[in-house]
Amino acid sequence: MRPASLSLDLDNLWTYMKTAGIAGWETFPSYLDLVTPRILDRLDHHGLKITFFIVGQDAALKENRQALRRIAEAGHEIANHSFHHEPWLSRSSREAMSAEIAQAEDAIGDATGQRTIGFRGPSFCLSTPLLETLCERGYEYDASTLPTFLGPLARAYYFTRSDLSAEERKKRSLLFGSLADGLRPINPYEWNLSTGRMVEIPVTTTPLIRAPFHLTYLSFLATHSGAIATAYWKAALSACRLFGVQPSVLLHPLDFLGCDDLHILSRFPGMRLPSARKLAIIDMVLSDLAKGHRVMTMREHAHELRRGRLHDRTPSFEADSATLAT
Ligand SMILES: [Zn+2]
Repeated sequence: MRPASLSLDLDNLWTYMKTAGIAGWETFPSYLDLVTPRILDRLDHHGLKITFFIVGQDAALKENRQALRRIAEAGHEIANHSFHHEPWLSRSSREAMSAEIAQAEDAIGDATGQRTIGFRGPSFCLSTPLLETLCERGYEYDASTLPTFLGPLARAYYFTRSDLSAEERKKRSLLFGSLADGLRPINPYEWNLSTGRMVEIPVTTTPLIRAPFHLTYLSFLATHSGAIATAYWKAALSACRLFGVQPSVLLHPLDFLGCDDLHILSRFPGMRLPSARKLAIIDMVLSDLAKGHRVMTMREHAHELRRGRLHDRTPSFEADSATLAT
């Protein structure tokens, strides 16, 4: 069977509130005790081991420790999703980037007992200095690219549902990426950096049309029609098979939560669905993926890819020429 990787960005309640400018995020409200057992239960049901990208700030808080420890004890890979979950991390100074990555590593290591060797930038933010920093710190793979033309559209949708000031919007000007991201490869490749080499595993989008098909999009479609969401998923997976793409599928906690669990995020895509509907979509996706693939963690996928032949790529990003004063 063909390989596929599965990962989950463990974005906590406060990260959504922070990105959308909802007051109260500063006390780091958490739903990890609610959602983590539910996620682990569904993964266990389908016999899957995946990669959890964890935010350092959550790992640093004692009240989240037990939930995070359970993920590691269940045999999943733990990876780095930054400390502060700031989408403008890619435009920070090198010193700030290095400190951010190290701070997250330390907090996550303390909470889970695992040393992280994989990274995904908040809201898919990435730049050449960020890749070089990760490589210097011994990271083996990055997973921060989403090759789609829909990034600016997702950003516009997001802004219409947020309470952000003009200044906050400016900071988020690269949120979910630029049009140029649509031209990036869908298949994994290797970054050729001044500090070494590192595998890139993009979040898979549908070959040719480059439309994302991770669960956020499926839930959004399911708000209108469950049948369309299922057909869209199956068509995307068939296209991957046809074009020889090894899928790397992305999950989020909101894929496991419904309007009966949370009201504060009702403006987010798919959050008007009840949790039973969300879990039915998750079960369909996980069983479908497991049926036709050897589903593995990102670390295992990176190791397997490295044993084959990977194309080389020299990095170039819009964020490279837009460093923010920090
Ligand atoms: Zn995130």
